[in-house]
Amino acid sequence: MGVVIGKSIFPGIIIGKPYIEKKKKIDIENYRISLEKIDEEIERFLEAVQKAKNDIKQIKNNLEGKINKEDLQILTVHIMMLDDPQFITDIKKGIKKDQSNAESIVRKVSNKYIEMFEKIADPIYKQRALDIKDISERIIMNLTSEEEVDLNLNGRILVIRELLPSELLKLYYSGIKLSGIIMEYMGETSHTAILAKALEIPTLMGGNDLFSVDWGDQIILDTTSMEGKVITNPDIKTLNRYDEEKNKYRKKIKEIDESINKETVTLDNERIFLHLNIGGRLDITQVSKKNPDGIGLLRTELIYMDAIEFPDEEKQRKIYENIAKEFEESQSKKPIVIRTLDIGADKKLSYYKMVDEENPSLGCRGMRLTLSNKGLFKNQIKGILRAAKNHNIKMMYPMITNLKEIREAKELVEECKKELLEEKKEFKHDIEIGMMVEVPSNVLLAEIFADYVDFFSIGTNDLTQYILATDRYSPIAEKLYDCYDPAVIRAINLVAQAGIQKNKKVSVCGEMAGENQAVIALLSLGIRDLSMAPAYIPKVRNLIRKINISELSEIKIALLNASDSAEVKMILNEYLNRVEGRGKL
Ligand code: PEP
Ligand code: MG
Repeated sequence: MGVVIGKSIFPGIIIGKPYIEKKKKIDIENYRISLEKIDEEIERFLEAVQKAKNDIKQIKNNLEGKINKEDLQILTVHIMMLDDPQFITDIKKGIKKDQSNAESIVRKVSNKYIEMFEKIADPIYKQRALDIKDISERIIMNLTSEEEVDLNLNGRILVIRELLPSELLKLYYSGIKLSGIIMEYMGETSHTAILAKALEIPTLMGGNDLFSVDWGDQIILDTTSMEGKVITNPDIKTLNRYDEEKNKYRKKIKEIDESINKETVTLDNERIFLHLNIGGRLDITQVSKKNPDGIGLLRTELIYMDAIEFPDEEKQRKIYENIAKEFEESQSKKPIVIRTLDIGADKKLSYYKMVDEENPSLGCRGMRLTLSNKGLFKNQIKGILRAAKNHNIKMMYPMITNLKEIREAKELVEECKKELLEEKKEFKHDIEIGMMVEVPSNVLLAEIFADYVDFFSIGTNDLTQYILATDRYSPIAEKLYDCYDPAVIRAINLVAQAGIQKNKKVSVCGEMAGENQAVIALLSLGIRDLSMAPAYIPKVRNLIRKINISELSEIKIALLNASDSAEVKMILNEYLNRVEGRGKL
């Protein structure tokens, strides 16, 4: 028996046959094109690009309604890239200059782009490199007509260095159902990961050195916990144990599905509130199925990223109003927290040039950026104030460092209200305004900040990176970036305490709010409001219904005395195992 460890992307337990895919790229020939045939070759290339676009559009139409709109955005990005004049011109020029066949030039030009993007540490550019790889392989596939997929893949667990989104979709459309995916490539937020989740394929990423593993005929893929595991050549005893695990897991999924419309209360009747984190586009059918208590984090930067220029006040009013109306149709007037623009560092706008900085994560981002662009910021504040007139909308600031910023923002809000009055536009006069807790200074001064805002929402993604001085996206620092570090746990506790003392609501909206272990920790620290990606709501609700708040005081003491994240995780896992055994409620 052997074991491969990696990061779970979509959960499941699969016992099955592996399919080892070593081939990375389509083999292509490089041959010379005579001068008089160059135009014909360029035409052949353009037809392959057109076919790639048509294919993606068709896939997109077929997927409409099956996966959520945000995930479909990947395909729109690919269509846009196939239209990119720079990319197309570089290839046309290359064919002419080298007098070589189209497929060899597509590979050459795309490799140049891929290399350039891969050198940049920012994960957005790493994703861009993968996107280019994806569209260029699609063009090459059309040029070489290597379209067949191996039907033997059906029902197997695919082991591969890296799988592109288009390859995954091609398999899906060929009627091939993968029972699992094991990849060397690590990209939790990559498009491949998003699609694997959308298609609900148990997936493990970041497996080490996959091609030196002896895979044998049968493997077990277990991605039910954060750390995923593959067992190769399992013995009979292990197989029997996993058969049982599989049954247990199936029951658990059934139980989660059944608890979807139940109340979010603990065993000892404490009501917990589960909110959604959403981007710019609201997929109402997905959202209403989760029966949330509101939207806890509307990341408006995604609305800005979708636009071609800064949306003005009127556009913003309409967008926020439409989201609120759509949400209210099934969810009545549950609260919606709109976070003001949070760009900078990893989040960029194509139409706005950021200042070049040595450390952008510590530089002009979030509130620092909006406060230095007051005109832009006022457009957003006015849009939000107006949209809030007839809807349960609240406003929240990201990346606050000190009180001066809160005071400045307050002055701007007052200025906006005055202007709206003069412009005879209707708006909400007493909108609630909260702040994200993302910077250590917020934690240390939480009681003071609490006097200036209506609520706190702890952004543990950023708070973790700033408390631990560890870039949240750096693969090198990955082992240090850990929201279960006792320093982060203590920080959350301080904020929760300040909230209780000052009677201000404290929620948590970082990714940890959707992790079972973290939910136990957060409840033990007194947090009662969680905001997370829609997909996590059902399982978190199901877990909460098995927890006794009264049992958590011991956990809290243990957590606050823990000396490292391993100890924190051990305490939480122990309790989690205990409650998961509790029957259907
Ligand atoms: C956070 O930092 O935890 C957060 C929710 O904000 P974002 O992930 O958008 O930076
Ligand atoms: Mg953040």
